[in-house]
Amino acid sequence: MRTRFAPSPTGFLHVGGLRTALYAYLIAKQTKGKFLLRIEDTDQERSVPGAVENILSTLHWAGLHPDEGVMMRKGIMAQEGTKGPYIQSERTEIYKKYADELLAKGLAYPCFCTPERLTKMRDDQSARKQAPMYDRHCLSLPKKEIEQRLAKGDPHVLRLHVPHERTITYEDEIRGAMSFQGHTIDDQVLLKSDGFPTYHLAHVVDDHLMEIDLVIRGEEWLSSTPKHLLLFELFGWTPPKYAHVPLLLNKDRTKLSKRQSAVAAEDYIKEGYLPEALLNFLALLGWNPGSEQEMFSLPELAEAFSLERVQKAGAIFDTEKLLWLQGQWIRRLSPQDFAERIRPMVVARFPDADQDPHFPERAALIQGRVTFFRETPEMLGFFYEEPKVTMGLLANPKQKVTPELLPKVLKALAKTLDLLPDNKWTIDTLKEAVQKTMKKEELGQGQILWPLRAALTGLPFSPGAYEVAAALGKTATMARLVSAQKIAA
Ligand code: GLU
Repeated sequence: MRTRFAPSPTGFLHVGGLRTALYAYLIAKQTKGKFLLRIEDTDQERSVPGAVENILSTLHWAGLHPDEGVMMRKGIMAQEGTKGPYIQSERTEIYKKYADELLAKGLAYPCFCTPERLTKMRDDQSARKQAPMYDRHCLSLPKKEIEQRLAKGDPHVLRLHVPHERTITYEDEIRGAMSFQGHTIDDQVLLKSDGFPTYHLAHVVDDHLMEIDLVIRGEEWLSSTPKHLLLFELFGWTPPKYAHVPLLLNKDRTKLSKRQSAVAAEDYIKEGYLPEALLNFLALLGWNPGSEQEMFSLPELAEAFSLERVQKAGAIFDTEKLLWLQGQWIRRLSPQDFAERIRPMVVARFPDADQDPHFPERAALIQGRVTFFRETPEMLGFFYEEPKVTMGLLANPKQKVTPELLPKVLKALAKTLDLLPDNKWTIDTLKEAVQKTMKKEELGQGQILWPLRAALTGLPFSPGAYEVAAALGKTATMARLVSAQKIAA
């Protein structure tokens, strides 16, 4: 299958757009076909500088590399493939030719209506509670007048002449049988007065010339589809298949909005999401794998994905699920990969971490607790600087650690641990020694482990006391117990 993603560069790539791109990519991979990227910039007024670059860099980050069309090559924008150009503003001559063909065959007609007339027409229609629709004023102009005005160069657009008596039907890959009455379809503008085509004309011509088999796009295009099918028919071309994916919704079932969630894919990149997590999450927005499996890599998705299992109803954008998937994907990284990915951030804050031969083991201690890489310098800081231990942290009523008990506990800990030789300083031996002391001093688990962990890390949350002590080594552990004793004294 040849599928395409055809964004308009009117702003940053929306997460819904990224999901559309993902679905189109998956179908292409699954069928050993081609995934195309075409830039639909016919609406020059709405085009935003930098938007194409943003689309490309986001797709690149996500690993959704187009096989054909516009793509990043060595960090620069390139167009590759034999059916280009793949940027619509570079194809205006092509659209003009097809528009002329429709005009010559009488399948489209020029419309000279002024913007003022059209506004008044729409206002009157809405006052009558009618759907806004062109009233075909220019369809009945005498042939002569049309010729004269065209010759004079009167500003005009070209409109599609929709056959009102027809019923247009097709089978949507997600929604099933669809049917539209011709009289409800507006005579769509195909060519604007500046000679630029509208999206409607341009994308039909392109989907044909680029041999697209399947169009996957947002639900908002559903009502325009009969116009597109008509165009295919008028040109005598076989239309592609269509799949209209459901809207993304806020938790309250309103359309996903900036006010409730970030909507630009870039915001999720900046926040620190892994591409694996975001793609996994987006894939599941509207698609049900039909099994218990929740984590899918891109190749796994390409295998499992099917449009039949995409729902028609809007999909709730549940950010808690996204956070959960992010944590899961962090755990899935190999410990080496995890350590290498976080090292630059930790080193930026604690330069000593750069030369630390124990960095991988220390990083491994926190891998299970991290949601975003940016949290890691804070979590590993106690290995590289003196912890900020306070009485408020050492004493902990929940663990039954009172200020009165502290000096005794810390002293006992320092005494036993000092007896452990350097070469026997492991999690197991530490555990054995601490448990023995606990029994001897008649303490509870929390009463001994909390002060030990707090003294070593200065943090309310961290990996467990034995892991931390083992990773710190004997010298640092003993020094920190001595400091804590001073604070508790
Ligand atoms: N350029 C349209 C958009 O950005 C694409 C619609 C389509 O895929 O046909 O929404």
